[in-house]
Order: sequence, then structure tokens, then C-alpha cells
Amino acid sequence: MSDTPATDTPATDMGLVVVGAAGRMGQTLIRAIHTIRGARVIGAVERADSPHLGKDAGELAGIGRIGVPISADPLPVFARADGVLDFTTPASTVEFAGYAAQARIVHVIGTTGCSAEDNARIEAAARHATIVKSGNMSLGINLLAVLVEQAARALDADDFDIEILEMHHKHKVDAPSGTALLLGEAAATGRGVPLAGNDVRVRDGHTGVRKVGSIGFASLRGGSVVGDHSVILAGTGERITLSHHAEDRAIFARGAVKAALWARGRKPGLYSMRDVLGLS
Ligand code: NAD
Repeated sequence: MSDTPATDTPATDMGLVVVGAAGRMGQTLIRAIHTIRGARVIGAVERADSPHLGKDAGELAGIGRIGVPISADPLPVFARADGVLDFTTPASTVEFAGYAAQARIVHVIGTTGCSAEDNARIEAAARHATIVKSGNMSLGINLLAVLVEQAARALDADDFDIEILEMHHKHKVDAPSGTALLLGEAAATGRGVPLAGNDVRVRDGHTGVRKVGSIGFASLRGGSVVGDHSVILAGTGERITLSHHAEDRAIFARGAVKAALWARGRKPGLYSMRDVLGLS
């Protein structure tokens, strides 16, 4: 979407709810908000069966008491909030988008692995909520996507094959990563084709030769890797590799808070991190 300016300059801190507050990203978000001017945590939500309900969100995240207990009931906290930061699961994110639409607030979505149906429901919620959704909230990856789009546009599909390689920690549940798909979309846009139908997500057995113009993915899982991505443009006799290595989840959390502050006061709609960073 176009980068229309926010309609007001808020005088008060933006009150944010972190859903999935006990998760890897949830705790990182609580720590990040604590260090960023203009934002504060006013609510923390977890699943009804979470062992962390009732605990102080700051204490759980290791920054000491912030006076925000983790609750299983999103509605009362959404009603008091200016925005929601959501790195949970696709089913929960769809539900939270509906609540954010009811409350007419900002919803920053980092959750990956959403289906086409999930995305359609999120898009519907964006009629009333101001949603920023991205498979990767870091500045580096969004800049990389711009470079990938340029490279794919410059290099002929008959001469250069595009392969996207990613590695993540062993707890990750979806593949290819949301970031790999974001980079695949950028490559496809550069080539002027849709990613769907041109993507090869898995190879196994007698696959036959590589289809010209296809965009391949390979996913590695292991250890504690925060997120490594490489886009390889392989020609005959030369190869270009564009890479990003995430060393700390804080880059995603800071990006998410930046997205929330950017979205405050903007009209409802579905925005991307490239809109937030002015890279569209
Ligand atoms: P995690 O499993 O550590 O955390 C998810 C948390 O959400 C858990 O604590 C879980 O209990 C909670 N949760 C699930 N359903 C809920 C519900 N209905 N209500 C409240 N809480 C609920 O996972 P993670 O590593 O923090 O990753 C979460 C998501 O964020 C994944 O989809 C991951 O791929 C994505 N992610 C995106 C980015 C990005 O920049 N866009 C970066 C890192 C991770």
C-alpha cells in the first residue's frame, strides 16, 4: 500500500499488548518495548493452558516487574490498547486480527505459515484494523528483498537459476520459512511472474532436470540458529549469493515496535514492512 502519513502526532506512549508473551519472540518483544521511547506494554496474553498465566510479563522476560500479569483473556486488554504485537500461530493470529478489527487498533503480525485462507481473513480484518504483516520484521531482510528483486529483474531467467536456502533452529514448525517465501516473492516480482506455480519447495528422488524459470527452496533445521537466508543466482560459470544472517531475535522485535509506532494513526489497511521502512 502507499505510504500515506499518519493523521496525528500522539502525545502519549503507545499502549501495546504482546500476545504469545511467554514465547521466544513474545519475551524478546517485552524486552524491546522496555527500551524504546514512545511505547509501553499494557497487556500480555497467552494460551489458556499456558503455565505462565498470572506471572508478571517483565519478570518472565528477565527485565524485572512491570506490573503486567499474563492473562488468557485478550478482549479486555485489546479494548484498552492502541496496538497488538503478534508472533504466535496462524489460527491465533486470524482470531486476534478479528479482535483488532473490532477494537479498531493496530495489529502487527510476525506469525509465519499462514495459509491463503488465513491471509484472506487477515485482509478482511484490515478493513477496520491497521495491520502490518511481514514474514520478517528486520531492516536487513527487507533491504535484501529489494536487492533480490533488482537482481532478478536484471538477470535473464534463461541464464540464471534462483535458489533460496534457509536455516533455522530445531524448534521451528513451518517450512520454507516466511522469510524465504518473502524473498521468493521478491525474486518472482523482479522476474514479472507469480511465485505460485513457479516455486519448487521440495526435491526428492528422480526429479528430472531443473525447470527453466523456477525458484527453488531448501530448508535446513538444527540447533539454535536464529535465521540464515541466502538467495543464490546461479549462471553458467558464475554465481551471485545475497545473504542475511540474523544473530539476535531483537532485530525482529525492534522492527515490530517500529511498525506499530509507524501504523499508529494511519488508516485501516494491510501494510508491509517495506511500507514501514520506506522501501516500497
Ligand atoms: P514460540 O512457540 O516460542 O512462541 C509462540 C507463543 O505463542 C507461545 O508462547 C504460545 O503459547 C503462544 N500462543 C499460541 N497460541 C496462542 C493464543 N491463542 N493466545 C495466546 N498465545 C498463544 O514461537 P516463536 O519462535 O516466538 O515464533 C512465533 C512465530 O513468529 C512463528 O510463526 C515464527 O515463524 C514467527 N517469527 C517471525 C519473525 C518475523 O520477523 N516476522 C521472526 C521470528 C519468528
